[in-house]
Amino acid sequence: MNVETKIPYYYKSVDFEKLVTEYEPPLEFMEGTWKWSREKIEETQLKRLKETLAKGSEIPFFQRLWAKRDFSPKDVKSLDDISKIPSYTIDDIRDSINLDPPFGDYQKYHLEDGKHTPLRFYTSGGTTGSPRPTIYSAWDREIGAILSARTFYMHGIRPGDAVMNSWAYSTHNAAWIMDHGLWQWLGCTPITTGTGAVTPTEKQVEFVKTFGASSILATSDYLIHIGNTAKKMGLDPKVDLNIKTLSAFGPKEEVKKVWGCPVYDSYAFHEVQYVAAECEAEDGLHVFEDAFIVEIVDFETGEVLPPGHRGNIVVTALYKTSTQQIRYNIQDISASYKVKQCACGSWHKKIDYFQGRSDNMIKLRGINIWPEAIGEYIKENPKVNGEYFCYVERVGSPARDEMTVIAEAKHASSDYFLLKKELEELLKRKVGVKINVSIVDEDELQPLTGHGIRAKLKRFEDRR
Ligand SMILES: [Zn+2]
Repeated sequence: MNVETKIPYYYKSVDFEKLVTEYEPPLEFMEGTWKWSREKIEETQLKRLKETLAKGSEIPFFQRLWAKRDFSPKDVKSLDDISKIPSYTIDDIRDSINLDPPFGDYQKYHLEDGKHTPLRFYTSGGTTGSPRPTIYSAWDREIGAILSARTFYMHGIRPGDAVMNSWAYSTHNAAWIMDHGLWQWLGCTPITTGTGAVTPTEKQVEFVKTFGASSILATSDYLIHIGNTAKKMGLDPKVDLNIKTLSAFGPKEEVKKVWGCPVYDSYAFHEVQYVAAECEAEDGLHVFEDAFIVEIVDFETGEVLPPGHRGNIVVTALYKTSTQQIRYNIQDISASYKVKQCACGSWHKKIDYFQGRSDNMIKLRGINIWPEAIGEYIKENPKVNGEYFCYVERVGSPARDEMTVIAEAKHASSDYFLLKKELEELLKRKVGVKINVSIVDEDELQPLTGHGIRAKLKRFEDRR
């Protein structure tokens, strides 16, 4: 048997003093980084961007990408030069995995490096194609956890709170980084129910009631489902469940109606963890600008767009020591806000709430449409319950693309034909092209969307 002489113990693997000085945890953050001037923010970003480019230049993926586009890190002398750095999308990540399976050549570490330094491995992309792995160092995990804790603190979660985590504890990062944030950087106790597939929703309601959870982490869709399940169990979520505040992902209005407490939104994704969080002003999401540079670019040209224009989110993570994300076009739709001091006092740049995925975007008769926008529009009709599923198919001769949205009626007694006509007229008015509508009974879409089971609901299918 081999005798190991060294184990990379976690407690020795991170310089925690350096970590909390550079990336402040919630309390220090609210008094410190949160109040930075634009000068201080931009000066820090430029310094960290240059360090990030130096780390990127050691990774084969970026060497190839940058050589192909004739870019050198030396080209970046000011923050404005960031647009000179080639951006990339999920397609480039897929190519990288095909080139060097199964991890791709975009990772800094491979799993055998765990011998020298503690690593974590998570994947994304269960819904669209094969899983895309990301390997995280201890430093990257700790900062991800700090970013989570900052978000929860901004949303009113406090030390001593028990927080039910209804995200999937799986190979996906989300539940884990939230868990670490609550536990290690906020003094909260996570209640690790996971999604409805692991702990049935009725049981989750009982957990909240029995153990006195004061908050729940879940998508907006699932928060609504938990609340409605409580009602079916004869409980009033507003009275019988003592929820203080909710940190959601997605539209908040319906969540507020069901739970009757403050609800805040945020934006995060698997590879880089929490990017932006809503503040008490409830007007857009503040980017954590000490840890990220976020740009919004044109769907087609990739040109950086001025404030107020919808485009794709491009993220550069500034804090990472392992796998880098340098101008990663994540193809999530948003818009930037004009840079100014927020009512909350912060100068950290804001972006709009998540609008949907542009790789689900369909061009019908020259107009860009995406499922999440359709979902928002149909909610204007009070006779539907907000559940929806869209698909696009190619029909007729000559062939043309048609989109259909299936919506659930709130009451079985509604006139479905009339409701279909009303929604088709509403969508025609809002979107500008004809979209077919089909009405079904409540809960009938569950097999398609995975409502109550999946953390992130499926809203779209391309049947072309
Ligand atoms: Zn603010």
